[in-house]
Amino acid sequence: MYISCSEERKIYEIPYQGQAAVAGYWDPKLGLCAQSTLLKWKEGKVTSFQPLSNLESIPQETQSWGSYFIIPGWIDAHVHLALDSLDFFQCLKNWEKPSLIEENIQGFLQRYLERGIVAIRDGGDIPGFAWRAKNRVNEGVWSGPRVVSVHEAVNREGMYGRFLGRGFRDILEWREKERDFIGQGIDQLKVVVTGIISFDDFQKVGPTQWAVEDLAELVEAAHRRGILVMAHASGIEGISVAIAAGVDSIEHGYYITSGQLKLMKEKEIAWVSTVAPIGNLLKYPTDRYSFHEIETLKRILEGQLAKIHEAYNLNVRLGVGTDAGAYQVPHAESLFDEMDWMVQAGIPKQAVCRMATQENARILGNSELGRLDIGTPVNLLQLVTHFP
Ligand SMILES: [Zn+2]
Repeated sequence: MYISCSEERKIYEIPYQGQAAVAGYWDPKLGLCAQSTLLKWKEGKVTSFQPLSNLESIPQETQSWGSYFIIPGWIDAHVHLALDSLDFFQCLKNWEKPSLIEENIQGFLQRYLERGIVAIRDGGDIPGFAWRAKNRVNEGVWSGPRVVSVHEAVNREGMYGRFLGRGFRDILEWREKERDFIGQGIDQLKVVVTGIISFDDFQKVGPTQWAVEDLAELVEAAHRRGILVMAHASGIEGISVAIAAGVDSIEHGYYITSGQLKLMKEKEIAWVSTVAPIGNLLKYPTDRYSFHEIETLKRILEGQLAKIHEAYNLNVRLGVGTDAGAYQVPHAESLFDEMDWMVQAGIPKQAVCRMATQENARILGNSELGRLDIGTPVNLLQLVTHFP
């Protein structure tokens, strides 16, 4: 088995049973312990972690990780493994060459592990590349983080999301095909509720695809089976529909309002605010966008950061998701951009770390993730030298 060492961008091979001396640990609930600690594990899972001073001597065969802190691995709550963050249209053409895409994906998965990212949630692609990648990782054929995959998204025919899902004519067609759709295997249900935002027109968003009753029916179909629902939604109208229909998380949520944040707090709906696909275009400038588009992007970014700060103060469930695969949002690296954007929004660093572990684990629906505890698989932890 292995453990990620994000500082060295390496993955260390470790035995299934062992012990290691570390400089300390951090956990979202326990906080920071900056005291030499002896970590023990058996069958790949943590059996104890105790400060070293309480022990008589360091037992033999102890791994020396004395310069590292051990903390839960990071989680990215929104990625698209089938996209390469370089050229969207070329990438969609490349989907016709599955072996090329699979090779790319294996590289991305490796990068996630090297950067201490032990789990990702994939927002879908119509050919099912991410779903198959998840299965490869689970079978042990590929190495990579845990992948939670929506397989394919539910969108309306002829509207935004053609690369994400097959497109349903209406709720009647969904009813007809619901069993088959869910039966093809999904970890979460992703619904495309609105189109995307415009870089040309401030506040312009592609049309809302579902009425509240129809979306509520989709949500109910998932919840009946114990499946969480992630909703791609931006703009006042679409976000209101998603909240009213009772989705579990709002993805992107550009132009969200204060009133909507308060409702989300009440209903415990999480917000995955994906700043990187906007912010990174400004952080890493290219000549791709006009002056007018750049000015619009700046306004959108400013508004998004202000609302994230407000959400934090209101105690809304905030996740960290990048939309990796989108232009200028590279797999793995962009999680650190996204965490920086959260800090830019005014959230304390430790709280951002809690979001990228504990809250993201809840959003992924996996209680093994995002914590350091007795029973935690060691390969869901990571070694770091700097801790905020
Ligand atoms: Zn997405």
